[in-house]
Amino acid sequence: MIAQYQAIKAEHPGTLLFFRMGDFYELFFEDAVQAAPALDIALTKRGRHEDEDIPMCGVPVHSSESYLEKLIRKGFKVAICEQMESPEDARKRSGKTLVRRDVVRIVTPGTLTEDSLLSARANNYLMAIGGHADRLAVAWVDISTGAFFTEMTSKADLTGAISRLSPGEILIADNAGDRIGLPGPLDDWKSLFTRIDPRSFSAERGESRLLDHFGIRSLDAFGAFERSEIAAAGALLSYLDLTQKGLLPRLDPPRRIENGTAMRIDPATRRNLELTHSLDGRRQGSLLASMDRTVTSAGGRLLAERLAAPLASLPPLLERLAEVEGFVEDAAAREDVRGQLRQMPDLARAVSRLSLDRGGPRDMVAIGRGLTVAGDLRRRLEKAAAPLARMADDLDPCDELRERLVATLDDQPPLLARDGGFVRSGALEELDEQRRLRDQGRRLIAELETRYREETGIPSLKIRHNNMLGFFIEVTSTHRSRVPDHFLQRQGMVNASRYSTDELGSLEERIAHAADKALALELEIYADLRAAIAEHANAIARTAAAAAALDIAAALGELAREQDYVMPRLTDGLDLDIAAGRHPVVEQSLVQAGERFQPNDAQLEGDQSLWLLTGPNMAGKSTFLRQTALIAIMAQTGSFVPAKSATIGLVDRLFSRVGAADDIARGRSTFMVEMVETATILNQAGERSLVILDEIGRGTATYDGLSLAWAVIEHLHDANRCRGLFATHYHELTALAARLDHLSPHFVRVKEWKGEVIFLHEVAAGSADRSYGIHVARLAGLPKVVIDRAQAVLNKLEAGEAHTAPARLAEDLPLFRAALEASRCQAEPSRPPPALERLRDLDPDEMTPRQALEALYTLRDLLEPE
Ligand code: ATP
Repeated sequence: MIAQYQAIKAEHPGTLLFFRMGDFYELFFEDAVQAAPALDIALTKRGRHEDEDIPMCGVPVHSSESYLEKLIRKGFKVAICEQMESPEDARKRSGKTLVRRDVVRIVTPGTLTEDSLLSARANNYLMAIGGHADRLAVAWVDISTGAFFTEMTSKADLTGAISRLSPGEILIADNAGDRIGLPGPLDDWKSLFTRIDPRSFSAERGESRLLDHFGIRSLDAFGAFERSEIAAAGALLSYLDLTQKGLLPRLDPPRRIENGTAMRIDPATRRNLELTHSLDGRRQGSLLASMDRTVTSAGGRLLAERLAAPLASLPPLLERLAEVEGFVEDAAAREDVRGQLRQMPDLARAVSRLSLDRGGPRDMVAIGRGLTVAGDLRRRLEKAAAPLARMADDLDPCDELRERLVATLDDQPPLLARDGGFVRSGALEELDEQRRLRDQGRRLIAELETRYREETGIPSLKIRHNNMLGFFIEVTSTHRSRVPDHFLQRQGMVNASRYSTDELGSLEERIAHAADKALALELEIYADLRAAIAEHANAIARTAAAAAALDIAAALGELAREQDYVMPRLTDGLDLDIAAGRHPVVEQSLVQAGERFQPNDAQLEGDQSLWLLTGPNMAGKSTFLRQTALIAIMAQTGSFVPAKSATIGLVDRLFSRVGAADDIARGRSTFMVEMVETATILNQAGERSLVILDEIGRGTATYDGLSLAWAVIEHLHDANRCRGLFATHYHELTALAARLDHLSPHFVRVKEWKGEVIFLHEVAAGSADRSYGIHVARLAGLPKVVIDRAQAVLNKLEAGEAHTAPARLAEDLPLFRAALEASRCQAEPSRPPPALERLRDLDPDEMTPRQALEALYTLRDLLEPE
C-alpha cells in the first residue's frame, strides 16, 4: 500500500495527498507532519518505512469539508485520492485486497465548488496572466458559476486588474519572470501564485482547447481575442483539466472586456475608498455593505463585481439606471419581485456542481424551484412598464425541464443520490411498485415477528437488522430452550442468540431485491435528469444571470427609496455638479446612532474644477472628499446617489490619496507610501480623471511638506487638468487661488461658542484660518496637563516667537514638570473589558458556524478566567 501511496504522491507534487482508507482520508510522511498542526489534529504513526516510523494523521470522510476548508485557507492544495473499487472486487480482480486508488480531483483555492468552501456573496476567480509577443493579458474564470472573461492589460495596469478581481488563485508560467518581466508590486499577491508549465500558455494549444471545449470552429464568434488572451484562457482550461481530472465544468463562452469600458481604479484608491472591503479587510463598513439590499447570493456577487468595476461608457449605464428608476417608481413591482427572488436558489452554482458530478438531488430540486421562480417573475414583469418588462426577456423558465424536475423530484430530498429516496411517488410506476414490495416486505417482517412470538411463546423475541447479518431473530438466553428446531443459529452471544429461518431469508431477499431495484431505477432517473440539465445548462445560466441583474435593479430601487437617493444625470462631458451630497456609509451609521449628516454641494467644473479644501481637524474634510468619489462610483455602477441632484461627466480614472498607512512589510515609511501614491497620480491623471488628495505633505517637515503640496497643486492644475479635491491644513496654500484660474478655495465651517468649538460640517467658499488641533486633542482625551502645555507653546508661537531658538522657547516655558507633578493623581482612562473588545472585533457575516462556536467559547473563557 505504501508503494501505491508513493507512486500516486509522486504524480502530484506540491499537494497534500488525502489518501482514502475506508471511512478516513489519511495523510502520511511529510504531508502528515505539515497537515496535523495546520488542522490541529494528532500526529500519529503507522508502520515503518526504511527503518523509520511513518508519520500519519487522518480526517473522517464525512466531515472532511471543514478540514479541507482549513487547509485551503492556509494556502495548501489537496489532492483527493479515492478507492476506485471495493476490497471484494479487488480480490476478484487480483486475488489481493489492495484496492485501486486514483486522484479524482485536486482542490486548490481557485477551483472550489462546495458551498461550505465558498462565500455565497463573492466570486472566487481563478486567474491566469498570459503574455504573447510583449502583450500582456489576463483571463479569469469562476468554476462555481461558469463566468469566464479575458482582458488585455499592461505591466502598469496588471495590479489594478488583480485588485479589482481579487482572485483566489493566479496561474503564471514557470518562466514568466524572465519572459514577461513582471512588475515588482506583484509581490503583494505572491501567495496566490501557482506556477505551471509554460507550455500550458501556448496560444496555439489554447486556441484548440477553447475550440474543443465549446465545440466551435472559430473563436471569432465570441469576440476578437488577441493571442495573449487566448494563451491565458487556454492556460485556465489546461489547469482545470489537470485539477478536475478531465471533467470540465460548464463554462460561459469567454467574454472579452474591452479596455476603456470600465473606470480604472488603482489598488491604493480601491483600498482607501473601502469599496468592497473596509480597511480591516471586512465587508462591514464598506460601500458595498452600505448599498447591498439584494436578496439572492447571485445578486450579491454581481453587485460586488459591478462596484469593483464601475463603467465608463454611457449606453449600458443609462439602461441600468432606467431599470432602477422603474423599480423606484413602481413600489408594487419592487415588492413582488423581491418577494419572489427571495425564493430563488443559487442556480449557477447548482448547475456547476452538477456539471462536475459533484452535485446531488438537492441541486436538481433547487434548479426546478429556481426555474419556477423565473416563470413567476416573468409573468409579473410582463405586467410592468417598459424598462421592467424588458427585463423579463432573459428569464427563460425552460418549461419542459422545469415541469419534469418538479414532477419527478421530492421537495425535501436527501443530500446524496446514492441514498435514494429523492424521486416522488407517482413519478414512475415501476419504481412505486418496487418500493411497495420493499415496504410490504418490511410489514411482512413485522407480522412474522408477532407470529413467531405467539408460536414460541417468547414475548421478548425480536426481528432485527444489521449490516453484517442482515435480518435475524434475536432471543435472550433465558428463553433459549423454547427456540424451535427450524430456527438456525447464526450467532451466539453471552446474553442472547441470533437465528434465521427460511421464511425470514426469502422475505429478506425480496426486500433487498426490491430495494436494489428501486435504487437502480432512481439512479437511472438521476442520470437522465443530469443529462437534461446539462443540455439546458446555458439557458439556465442565462436565466440565473438575468435574475441576478433583476435582483440588483430591484435592490438599488429599494435602496434609493429607503435612503432618499436621486437618479444621477450622466454625461460625456467634464461636469461634476453634486447638490447636497452625502457620504453613503457615514450617513447610515450616523442615522443609526440617531444623528444627522450634513449634506454639502460639490461643483468641480468649469473654472472651479480643482477645489482646495481647508478646515479644522475633525471638520469633515476627508468625509467630503470621499463622498464625492463614492457618488461618482455609485453613479457609474448604475445606482442612484445620496444627493438632491447630481450631474456627472463620466470619470475614466479615479485616483485617491487619503489616509496614511505604513507599509513596513515592504519597507516603506508612511511618507514614502504617500509619495509613491502621489507620483502615480501626477504621472497618470488626465482630463477625464477625478483626483482626491487628502493632506499631501503632512508626513515631513513643515516647509518640505508645504512646498511639495504647493507644487503638486500647480501640476494638477496645469498639467493633469483633471477634476480634483485637495484637502490641506496648510492654510498658506489658499494664496495660490489668486494665480491658478481653476483653483477654487473652500473650507469646512466651525462655530466657536463659549470657548468650545462646534463642528458644523458645512462646506463653503473661502478658506479656514485655524486648525483647532489642540481642541480636538482635548476631545480625544489627552491629559489636561499636556493640552495646557500645548496651548501655552501655541500662544508663544502665534505671538510671533516662532523664530526664537527652541532652547529659548524651552527656557521661557519651564512649567511642564511642575504641572505634571500636580496632575499625577489623575485617574487612568478605563478600557472596556477584553470580552467586549473581542466581541466588537467579530464579523458574524464572515464566520462559519464552527468559527462562531469557537468564538463563543473564547468569549466565555474571557469572562471566566481559570
Ligand atoms: P482631520 O483633518 O482631523 O483628518 P477631517 O476634517 O478630515 O479631519 P473627517 O474625518 O472627515 O474630518 O470627519 C470627522 C468626523 O466628523 C467623521 O467621523 C464624521 O462622524 C463627522 N462628519 C464628517 N462630515 C460630516 C457631515 N457632513 N455631517 C455630519 N457629520 C460629519
